[in-house]
Amino acid sequence: MSEKIPVQNVEPETVEFDLYEKRKKIYTRAISGFFQKIRTRALWILMLGYFLTPWINWHDRQGVLFDLPARQFHIFGITFFPQDFFLLAWILIICAFGLFFVTTLFGRVWCGYTCPQTVWTMVFMWIEEKTEGSRNARMKLDKEPMSKRKFLKKFNKHSLWFIFGWLTGLTFVGYFTPIRELLIDLFTYQAHPWAYFWVAFFTGATYLFAGWLREQVCTYMCPYARFQAVMFDPDTMVISYDYNRGEQRGARKRSADHKSKGLGDCIDCNLCVHVCPAGIDIRDGLQYQCIGCALCVDACDSIMDKMGYERGLVSYTTERRLEGKTTHMLRPKVIGYAMSMLVVFTAFFYFASDREALGLDVIRDRNRLFNETPSGMIENIYTVKVINMDQTSHVFLLSVNGLKNMDMIGRTKVTVNAGEVRSVPFSIQVPPTAISKQRNTIYFKVTSQDPDYPIEKVTESRFIGPVSK
Ligand code: SF4
Ligand code: SF4
Repeated sequence: MSEKIPVQNVEPETVEFDLYEKRKKIYTRAISGFFQKIRTRALWILMLGYFLTPWINWHDRQGVLFDLPARQFHIFGITFFPQDFFLLAWILIICAFGLFFVTTLFGRVWCGYTCPQTVWTMVFMWIEEKTEGSRNARMKLDKEPMSKRKFLKKFNKHSLWFIFGWLTGLTFVGYFTPIRELLIDLFTYQAHPWAYFWVAFFTGATYLFAGWLREQVCTYMCPYARFQAVMFDPDTMVISYDYNRGEQRGARKRSADHKSKGLGDCIDCNLCVHVCPAGIDIRDGLQYQCIGCALCVDACDSIMDKMGYERGLVSYTTERRLEGKTTHMLRPKVIGYAMSMLVVFTAFFYFASDREALGLDVIRDRNRLFNETPSGMIENIYTVKVINMDQTSHVFLLSVNGLKNMDMIGRTKVTVNAGEVRSVPFSIQVPPTAISKQRNTIYFKVTSQDPDYPIEKVTESRFIGPVSK
């Protein structure tokens, strides 16, 4: 007899899982220590710099003003025009190499100490702590049902966040439009609709990014956070947990001889996790969410002090040092970035020192090729733009040559203030006998009338006549 194999109708088991992990709210605990002190000082310097700069006047004008409609950037007495924007490109390249250089040596110090997202989030967290209380108090408050007390605390926090966001937005727009007038115009409803829009936009962005999104910006939105890993090598400074020293982790009495019980130096207090703004546990190893703020170092050092252990269980170190090897500061990548920075610096200073302090643009009126005047002269119309990139105003003389018996009709002597672009309309009249072809090259010249400032500039243009051979 053949053996029968029992067959059952089995429904396939469906396992559902989310590809998107829901965000867990991070309740950070405040901590003081060496690195937090540095962060706080950096915060003050950056905040004061950001908020006060647009209020500083320089020679009767806002010191730093990016005047987009006039296409002029004023930075403390130096005015940059569109033709200077290649210098801006050099500055950006220098900054990029500087960032690569610092990141290769010291890891994410930009993220941990100076990035606007980090700095503004620190302020928003400070407001949160002042209005809602400590970490434990905030966790308790969020679990409570809505009450008058909870509503007031939340209202105060969001109002202060909003005010700080508004100040940030106002200041940002104040870099592009004179801030004193902007402030008055905003309150008297005379500001341009775009000014209202941009102030509101940056208020909302600050409130959202520093108040709500926080570490999400670094983890999911910041491209720099992603690509900087390629700059890391085993000699790069990172925040790291000394696994060999810390494990086996576990609670113990302060007086206990933990080594004899097989315990390492980590008492598993989780303080390093509670202070982390990225909500990670540094003991799990280097993670891309870590912004290198070193708060876990301060936290762990405070615990080591309490326990009477040596500091540095969590510390700034390198992968090589953790392996017991020597860290090399000078390495090909670092030297490469330093050399590139030097080359770009040299190029920048060469071009910046070669920058001309006088500009001359000539625009020919293209609506008509030429006019014939009642006296029989051939006339072309021009707009001449004199750009004074010097720090003081000067008187300039305009002249033209290139054809015989040219008559220049318009103001030939003009005063141009520092950083000003002066447009002067001109008509050039030439007797028909002086021109032998349709397109004639002529030269406009602007010459300083100041004996202490001998400078001139020549630019080429065309004079169109009726004769074509
Ligand atoms: S792990 Fe440490 S250094 Fe990294 S973000 Fe958290 S607290 Fe900052
Ligand atoms: S703070 Fe230090 S001792 Fe406490 S859990 Fe973190 S690593 Fe361990």
